[in-house]
Amino acid sequence: MTDTEARLDQIRGAMPPRPHNARTIAALTANPGCVRRAILDAAGVDKPRLAAASGFPAPFGQSRFAIARGNAFEALVKADGCAELLRLLRDKLGLPIPEASYADLEDVAGSTSLPVRHARTRQLVTRTAGSGADAGTLFDHPLLTLEVGGRLAYLEPDLIAFRLRDRFHVVEIKSFAAIDGQADPDKVAAAAIQSAVYVLAMRELLARSGRDPDLVADEVVLVCPKDFANRPVGALLDVRKQLTVLQRQLSRLALIADLVELYPPGISLDLAMDETGVPRRAASELAAALEIFPARYSPECLASCEMCRFCRHEARATTAALGRAVREELGGVEYVDTALRLADGEAKPGGGQHDAAALLRTAARLRAESLAAAG
Ligand code: SF4
Repeated sequence: MTDTEARLDQIRGAMPPRPHNARTIAALTANPGCVRRAILDAAGVDKPRLAAASGFPAPFGQSRFAIARGNAFEALVKADGCAELLRLLRDKLGLPIPEASYADLEDVAGSTSLPVRHARTRQLVTRTAGSGADAGTLFDHPLLTLEVGGRLAYLEPDLIAFRLRDRFHVVEIKSFAAIDGQADPDKVAAAAIQSAVYVLAMRELLARSGRDPDLVADEVVLVCPKDFANRPVGALLDVRKQLTVLQRQLSRLALIADLVELYPPGISLDLAMDETGVPRRAASELAAALEIFPARYSPECLASCEMCRFCRHEARATTAALGRAVREELGGVEYVDTALRLADGEAKPGGGQHDAAALLRTAARLRAESLAAAG
């Protein structure tokens, strides 16, 4: 075990590392500048549990209703040998055959062991990649892997489609609706980054097997329900930008050794419980340990990180809590109170605050003029 691994284990404490999935890997890209998140993720800390134990439970999680709806829609798309999906793939990818072969990798001869399923996925995908013209194949429940911060994460895309004489396409099935051809842009963006995780994992699988990673297209097929019915529609999503962001963040996690070195040894966020199920460490102790790792809170954290309420509470009264745009415009002015006093002219700007102070005074003057005109 390296020094860094030992330090990360100590930070996590007695609990086993929390495994990543495509959703958590995609979320790594949401706030790449946050040291706290980078260290918690590299250590495999159970963030929802830590958030709850430190007194600020995460405000989100998929509802049971949403999960059931997602499963029902996926079953519909894949019914009858993926008949609906094949119709879409013919339309979107020009799949030139009436039927594709179909390989279900949910189990291998009754075994659902992750390494066994991954080995079988690798074998079939590699064979298909080298089999040339007649390999039109849909891989259902394939199991891929991706190294995240030195740990292997198992990932299960909805499906991988292989077009004849061309490239693999990842298919992502989502249950949010496309109404009049438009889906919620935030949900599409989340689906794009999640699909990019699968594209990267597929490329790494092919590269490890001596095949060309570029056989995996950087366009993925997003399938979702049309309007208010359950009829699926498909669209191609270009995930090149998401791949770049993802690769940058994963290489940053790989450099976690340098980051961990910056903080004193002995910090622990141990979430172990006593025999009655009560956390052994008090919320205040956990909070004090967490605060050693600097955060970079912004309101976007509320949609992407389980620690958001803790970090929002910590960042209260700071200008950073008002969002990235405010943080950038008011560089050098850390607290809202200071910003208000600079705006009123009550406080004199210190070093590095002159531009922000001028901006604040202009904003205060415009506000006063608007209020006077209105009143
Ligand atoms: S919620 Fe906190 S830990 Fe998570 S990304 Fe935001 S600032 Fe970092």
